[in-house]
Amino acid sequence: MIAKAGKENSLAARLFVILFAAMFLSFIAATALAAYVSWTAYEGDAEERLTAQLEVVEGELQGLDSKQMEEVLARTHLADTRITLVAGDGTVLYDNMVDTREMGSHADREEIRTAPDRGEAVVLRRSETTGTDSLYAASRVNPDGTVLRLAESRASLAYYLGGLLLPLSVAVLLAALLSMLLSRVITRRITSPLLRVDLDAPLKSRTYREITPLLERIDAQRVELVRQNEQLARAVEMRREFTGNVSHEMKSPLQVIGGYAELIEEGIGSPDDARHFAGIIKSETQSMRMLIDDVLTLSRLDEGATNDARAVDVAELVLRVVGRLSSVAAASGVEIAVDLRECSVCCEEALLEQAVYNLVDNAVRYGDGRVEVTVGRDGEKVAIAVSDDGEGIPVDQRERVFERFYRVDASRSRSTGGTGLGLAIVKHAADAMGGRVFVGESDMGGAAFTLELPVQ
Ligand code: ADP
Repeated sequence: MIAKAGKENSLAARLFVILFAAMFLSFIAATALAAYVSWTAYEGDAEERLTAQLEVVEGELQGLDSKQMEEVLARTHLADTRITLVAGDGTVLYDNMVDTREMGSHADREEIRTAPDRGEAVVLRRSETTGTDSLYAASRVNPDGTVLRLAESRASLAYYLGGLLLPLSVAVLLAALLSMLLSRVITRRITSPLLRVDLDAPLKSRTYREITPLLERIDAQRVELVRQNEQLARAVEMRREFTGNVSHEMKSPLQVIGGYAELIEEGIGSPDDARHFAGIIKSETQSMRMLIDDVLTLSRLDEGATNDARAVDVAELVLRVVGRLSSVAAASGVEIAVDLRECSVCCEEALLEQAVYNLVDNAVRYGDGRVEVTVGRDGEKVAIAVSDDGEGIPVDQRERVFERFYRVDASRSRSTGGTGLGLAIVKHAADAMGGRVFVGESDMGGAAFTLELPVQ
């Protein structure tokens, strides 16, 4: 994955933080809940114990007057429990832990105020006398309003938790460690299938369904890249071959030209011979010019550069080509017959003219005296057919003749001024115009080339 450093977002880091936070917070919440529950239980226990004690002591005080009560209480010993007897007016009559002379009226104490009416009251509050948090249980023991009160010093929640500080800190520390460890393990487990994805074979990796579309896309792009690379390599290879062929094709006319030029230079032969040599040089030069023209046409087609397409009258174009070739045909005694329907296609006119020219030119050169050119419409296609009465093309070579520099009969091709590129240009042009070209056998026994183009 390509991302700018700093802006990089790590899935592993993110997962780890989220998992750790979730686990740690859950643990803390669970601990807090547990602590609270245990504190409530502790508080509830204390309440029950105190009221039970209160009932027992209350029982012992039944029917006694205040004086006798004080005596009974003085003999009563309850570990850690403070016992107080308060008169109806709030005066403290007895206390087993604090000197009563130092204690003011207790009429205002909540448990004292509420006890006489209900018989028994349980209150948790801070003691004004001892200054500690205490749980009080008070009960009316005499119709004159005397109240018996038991108190037990109590830890508040904060105090209670304070006592648990050490074990709690250890637990929190352990929780942090455990959460960290678990988060790490889980994060690794979640991210490792992602890290294991083999980008050279993404669909073979066993990973998450969620990223399958991504992997499919990567795979498609990988396949496409491989295909493009192969295509590129093929194109480079073809170009290299083509360049080699072109240089080779140029060498032979140059050698001929050079040889005859030397003869003329050295004055070998009669003036008539010299004229003959010059004629040869001229025709070789012509061949070279044709080769260069064809190479340029092909490389222009290779680059995909075509000029504007427009409606072209095919019959008119064929007639023009036949006109251009008529003198050559007449010179070699070839008759060109045409059978044309009115048709028009949309294409680059010069390109189509070049293609038709190459086909008719071949038919004239390889034919035996008769060439037929027909233009007709076949459904959505315009077909231009060029047939001759020559030797035709063997079935196994009908594909290959469209390759660059492929010749069935090299000597005949060269002797008639062929560059070996004519049909390659026709095929390339047909492709560029959205059509196709193929060859078969004509009625006359020769070759029959058909150029098919989509109708305008
Ligand atoms: P060339 O310049 O050699 O004619 P082309 O590309 O036009 O090159 O044709 C390739 C080869 O196909 C020719 O060398 C020839 O052997 C064969 N060929 C083309 N047209 C005909 C035809 N009408 N009849 C027989 N053979 C043909």
